[in-house]
Amino acid sequence: MSEGATLCQTCGDVAVTEFLPLGEQPACLFLENEAQAANEQAWPLSLGFCPRCSLVQIMEPVSERILFSGDYHHLAGLTGGYRLHLRGLADELAELHESRPGAGRRHFAVEIGSNDGSLLDELAARGFEVLGVDPNGEVTPAGSRVVKEYFSAQTAARMLETEGPADVVLALNTFAHITNMHDFLDGVRSLMGDDGMFVSESHYLPDLLETLQYDFAYHEHARYYSLTALQAAFELHGLEVFRIDRIPTHGGSVRVYAGFKGAHEVHGSVAALREEEDRLGLTGEAVYQKFAARVQEHRDRLRGLLDELTSDGSRVAAASSPARAVTLLNYCSLGPAEIDFISEISPRKIGKLSPGTHIPIVHQERLCGPGQPEYALLLSWHIAEELISRLREEGFTGKFIVPLPEPEVIG
Ligand SMILES: [Zn+2]
Repeated sequence: MSEGATLCQTCGDVAVTEFLPLGEQPACLFLENEAQAANEQAWPLSLGFCPRCSLVQIMEPVSERILFSGDYHHLAGLTGGYRLHLRGLADELAELHESRPGAGRRHFAVEIGSNDGSLLDELAARGFEVLGVDPNGEVTPAGSRVVKEYFSAQTAARMLETEGPADVVLALNTFAHITNMHDFLDGVRSLMGDDGMFVSESHYLPDLLETLQYDFAYHEHARYYSLTALQAAFELHGLEVFRIDRIPTHGGSVRVYAGFKGAHEVHGSVAALREEEDRLGLTGEAVYQKFAARVQEHRDRLRGLLDELTSDGSRVAAASSPARAVTLLNYCSLGPAEIDFISEISPRKIGKLSPGTHIPIVHQERLCGPGQPEYALLLSWHIAEELISRLREEGFTGKFIVPLPEPEVIG
């Protein structure tokens, strides 16, 4: 192993093979003004994979205490579709819990990264005792309690003492972000009762590879999970995946159920997905090299398309500013020279500048009202259809540019 090599976050003693350098990337924090923009920090972002356990990870994780400091705009305001998603999950957990032996037993659910508490309240409404753990969490609308800390093995030990074991530990779009995965899993393990479940949702690596979602790579995402890689990580902590469901969230995710080895009957979905992954060749380097080559080509094609469209004086603006846009814009070097502005409806983003590229963020009226640009680049391309109909309703009459998986002009 060469000195200074990046070691696998799961294995600890295996050097990671770099396959996709994405240049210098800032944190996904919007900037208040030019002065803040001038002092903005950026760090190299690059993806690598572990030849032993196949985990895909960022090469140099930046501390979450730096990344999540200040106002983390992306966490605010869940969409209606996502609320329905949480309701569905709460129904499923309630049903699973009902079917367990021990009638009348306590239902205790802990959610790590409970955000605005939407899921906690849904679970409480279904008879669960609930507790959130989130340094930025607030007491929820329905009054669910939140421990305002980063989750760690230490936090878990203290919670176990005061609250007792949890039947369900939840982590939605959190488990791939935590820098110290082993401490996190130790905590989950110690907090969970003997037949407890750890239910997590994360972006799914094969979906990322298939639809070229390199824009989903950013500093806040330390790891990109396949079932293969998750199984290797859980194994080290005496846990196993007993069920896995593919879900459409964020352009392709998985809901993963894990428990102590042998505590739950293993569902057929686990072997089925593992077989599919074996067919994709996720344990070899070739699939990642091919992905990296496609990403580079994509950058050239997208830049070429924008040059071509604006050669007659047409203007391009971007619609909405999701976290995933930060990587795409920075990697493709798209700034105010290429994109006039980014339109938004969130008052928390309007008036600010985009991270790294410093494109002004303005109210959606400028995209949809008089003097509007000829093209709208859809940065939330994974929900393009929904966005197109919404922007048409608001009065945008130009054409749409869908950047991924292939740059394409619509309308
Ligand atoms: Zn590994």
